[in-house]
Amino acid sequence: MKLFHISPETNLDLLVDNLWDGQQEGYRQQVVISIRRGRIAAVQPREMQGTGNGTQQMRLTGLTVLPGLIDAHVHLALDGIDFQASLDRWQDPLLRERVLARALRVSLEHGLVAIRDGSDREGLNLQAREWVRAGKYPGPRVVATGMAVHKKGKYGSFLGPGTTDPASIRELVTSLVNRNVDQVKVVVSGLVTFHRYGEVGSLEFDTAELVEAVKTAHAAGRPVMAHVNSAPGVDLALAAGVDSIEHGYFLTTAQLETMAARGTFWVPTVAAIANRLHTAKREVYPEREIDIIRRTQESQQEMVARAHRLGVKLVVGTDAGAPGVYHGESYLDELLYWYQAGIPAAAILRAATVTAAAALGLDGELGQIRPGYRPCLIAVRGNPLENLRVLAQPEMVFIDN
Ligand SMILES: [Zn+2]
Repeated sequence: MKLFHISPETNLDLLVDNLWDGQQEGYRQQVVISIRRGRIAAVQPREMQGTGNGTQQMRLTGLTVLPGLIDAHVHLALDGIDFQASLDRWQDPLLRERVLARALRVSLEHGLVAIRDGSDREGLNLQAREWVRAGKYPGPRVVATGMAVHKKGKYGSFLGPGTTDPASIRELVTSLVNRNVDQVKVVVSGLVTFHRYGEVGSLEFDTAELVEAVKTAHAAGRPVMAHVNSAPGVDLALAAGVDSIEHGYFLTTAQLETMAARGTFWVPTVAAIANRLHTAKREVYPEREIDIIRRTQESQQEMVARAHRLGVKLVVGTDAGAPGVYHGESYLDELLYWYQAGIPAAAILRAATVTAAAALGLDGELGQIRPGYRPCLIAVRGNPLENLRVLAQPEMVFIDN
C-alpha cells in the first residue's frame, strides 16, 4: 500500500480509469479528480480537463477509486487479541502509545480514513485523535467519545468511570464535553451472552437517567451513540432519543421501522459476534455455545437485511478491539457478513462511506468524491461492486491529516 499525504497546498490531478463516487450506482469512467489547495475542486470527464498550469498529474491506470472507508465503531485501546493484556498495558504510557499507534496504522493500511472510537476508561482515544491531528502518527481521522457513560456496578467498567444517578450522569457528560469529545457513548445494556440464545446482560439505566444523558449531550451539540442489545434495551434507547444504535442484537422489526422513520443510525457490528468463530485465533467455545453464537450471528444478518429493505440508515462498524475483531482486517469481514446476508455491494459501500460519514458528523467532508469534499480516497485493483474482497488490500490511500 502506498500512502499519499494531501496538504493544504496540494494541487494535483488524479487521472482515474474507474470511479465510484459514493452517489451513483455504477462507475464513472475516464475522469479527472482535481485537487486544489488540498480540497476536491472538480470531478469531470477527462476530455474536459484543462491543460498546462503546472499542476502535478498522477495516472491511476487500471485502478478503481472510491471514497476512503469509515469504521463507525472501534476501540483503539484494545487489540482484539488479549483483553486483559490490553487493560494491563493502559498502565504503561510507552506500551499503550505503541499499541494505539499500531491500531491507527493498520486501520489506515486497510483503507480506513475515519474511525469513531466507542471509548475506553482512560480516554486514550482522545489522545489518539490528537496524535493524528498533530501528525505524530499516521492514521485515520478519529472521532472520539473519551469515556463511556455507564452505570456503576454494571457492564462497561473498562469503558468509563461509572455513574450512579442523574446528577452524576450530567456531571460526567459535562466533563466529557469539556474535554471536547466529538460524541457521547452510553452503555444502555449488557453484552450478548452465549449461555442461552437471546440472553443479554441487564439494562443499566431507567428512562429518566438515559434522557438526562442524551439531553445533556444534545444541549452541547454532541450526538449520542448507544451500546445496546435486546428489544427492551433498544426501546429504552429510542425513547431517550439516541442518535445511533450500536450492536442492537435482538432488536425487532417494529423498532427498525421506527428507526427508519426517525433516521436513527444502526451500526450492527456483526463481526463482534461472528468473528468469535471465524478468525484464526478464535477462542475455544463448547459446542453448545458455538451453536448459540452461530444462531446469534444469523439472526443479526437477517435483521441487517431487513433493515436494508426498510430503509434504515445502516452504517458499517466492526467493534475492532473486541475479542477476535482485529483492527483493520476485520473491516472486510464485516462487509462480507452483510454481503452474505443478501445486501447488494453498492448498498454496503454506501453504508461504509456516505452514511458512515453522516453518523460520524462528517457529511459534507468525507464519504463522497465531489467538489468541496476532502480528498480522502482509496484506489483498489479490481471491481469492488462485483467483489468486495478487492478492498482487502488497497493499492493507494490518500489522506489529508
Ligand atoms: Zn464497542
